[in-house]
Amino acid sequence: MDGLALEVLEANRRLGASGLVTQTWGNVSAIDRARGVVVIKPSGVPFEELECASMVTLSLDGRRVAGTLRPSSDARTHLELYRCFPQVGAIVHTHSVMASAWAQAGRPIPVLGTTHADCFAGDIACTRPLTPAELGESYERDTGRVIVETVGRRDPLQVPAVLVHGHGPFAWGVDVGAAEATAQALEVVARMAAATLWLNPAAGDLDSTLARRHFLRKHGAGAYYGQADPRAGTAG
Ligand SMILES: [Zn+2]
Repeated sequence: MDGLALEVLEANRRLGASGLVTQTWGNVSAIDRARGVVVIKPSGVPFEELECASMVTLSLDGRRVAGTLRPSSDARTHLELYRCFPQVGAIVHTHSVMASAWAQAGRPIPVLGTTHADCFAGDIACTRPLTPAELGESYERDTGRVIVETVGRRDPLQVPAVLVHGHGPFAWGVDVGAAEATAQALEVVARMAAATLWLNPAAGDLDSTLARRHFLRKHGAGAYYGQADPRAGTAG
């Protein structure tokens, strides 16, 4: 059995049970850079019915190289992100409720507390609305392009998620585990931010030095949070 297909199958099953998705509104993919192939969930298949054989393997230019089902309708968005972000190894798309609410409001999520700062080095950006021309045949690829445009010159691993205007979040990471963790953290951060602004509409951004401190103790060369073996635990 293809190791990548198995990994993506299990990640999609976990996503289905995670509470982040309703019905089939979400998908996980991962890339094998050495082979130049992406494995993604098939379109419209309930998470609990997924099997290894239902996974779809695509080349980076979108040709199906393994599997018989149609890939997720978002596949071309995933492929565009893999083409433009060589650091990214896996992508999770959901319509998780609070992150999608920020996307529907067209608002970036500001850094209001250390939970956000632990996971994201800055605001979680929201794309501009797509233009009428971007809603045509290339809609899914253009969605990817607008995400890339929104990340701009920033390192995509520093803020590993974007809200697509009027739609929902795309989150990513160096591997499946990192992308899943980002999608989960994003939803919690989105919920906390909405509650914060409900309690105090004038709440300001977290002090930038404190925010940077929190991000850097978990990320980068000087990180000292957790154990030397990252599998030893990440919470707390
Ligand atoms: Zn979607």
